[in-house]
Amino acid sequence: MKNRTPLIAGNWKMYKTPPEAAETAGQLVESVGAVTGVDIMIAPTFTALESVARVIKNSPVALGAQNLYWEDEGAFTGEISGPMLKSVGCQYCIIGHSERRQSFGETDETVNKKIHAAIQTGLKPIFCVGETEQEREAKQTLSVLDKQVKEGLKRLVSDQLDTLIIAYEPVWAIGTGKTATDEQAQEVHQFIRSLIEKSFGNDLSKSIRILYGGSVKPDNISNLMAMPDIDGALVGGASLSAESFGKIVKFNG
Ligand code: PEP
Repeated sequence: MKNRTPLIAGNWKMYKTPPEAAETAGQLVESVGAVTGVDIMIAPTFTALESVARVIKNSPVALGAQNLYWEDEGAFTGEISGPMLKSVGCQYCIIGHSERRQSFGETDETVNKKIHAAIQTGLKPIFCVGETEQEREAKQTLSVLDKQVKEGLKRLVSDQLDTLIIAYEPVWAIGTGKTATDEQAQEVHQFIRSLIEKSFGNDLSKSIRILYGGSVKPDNISNLMAMPDIDGALVGGASLSAESFGKIVKFNG
C-alpha cells in the first residue's frame, strides 16, 4: 500500500501562447477542480506563467516551470532564476528534462546546480532521469540511472530533499507513443528508490515520489499507477488538452 500522494504533472513544452495556455488551464480547473487525493501541476512556457497563474488561483492545480538558471540574478541573457519563478507563483520546477540534456547541453553537473538552486529558492524540483534506446539495448539502463541520480544529487543531504520529486523518463518513450511496460518502469523505479535508500536513508526512500514519464495517456495511466513504486506521471503530449490530462488526473475512476 503506497502512502505517497500521487502527482500528475503536465509539461507543456514550447506550446501555447499566454491566452491559449490560460484557456486550457481554465478548462482543466473545471474538469479537475473537485479532485482530491492527487497533486496536480502544469508547467507552461515562461511567457504563459502569469496568465495561467491567474486562472488556477484557488484551485488544486499548481504551477510549475520547465527550467531555471542557478544564479538569482545577473548578466545571464536569456535565463530565468528561481526567485523570478517563485514571484509569479511557481511551486515546482522541472529540471534536467531529456530534451534539455540532448538539445541544450545540460549535463549531470548543471542539473545538480539547478537542483541546488531550486531547493534554495523553495521550488520543488522534478528531477528527470532516463536512458536512451541504445543504452537500454546495451543493457546499460541501471548504470546510466545510477550515474544520473548520484551526480544529480551531489552535495545534498536527506534533510534538503523532502520536496524532491524524481521523474523516470526513458528517452525512447518520450513523444514516441512507445511506453515502457508497467514492469519495465517498475523495475527502474524500484532501483531508483534503492539508490535513494543507500545514499539518503530509509525514510527518504519511502517518502520520495518517483514519477513515470513517456507517452502516458488516459488508457495506460491506471496500470502504471498500480505498480508499487510509481507515484504519478510527468505527461507531455497528453497534457496539452484539458480533456486528456483531466482523464489522466482522474486515473482512479
Ligand atoms: C515529457 O515531455 O516529459 C513527456 C513524457 O512527453 P510525452 O508524454 O509526450 O512522451
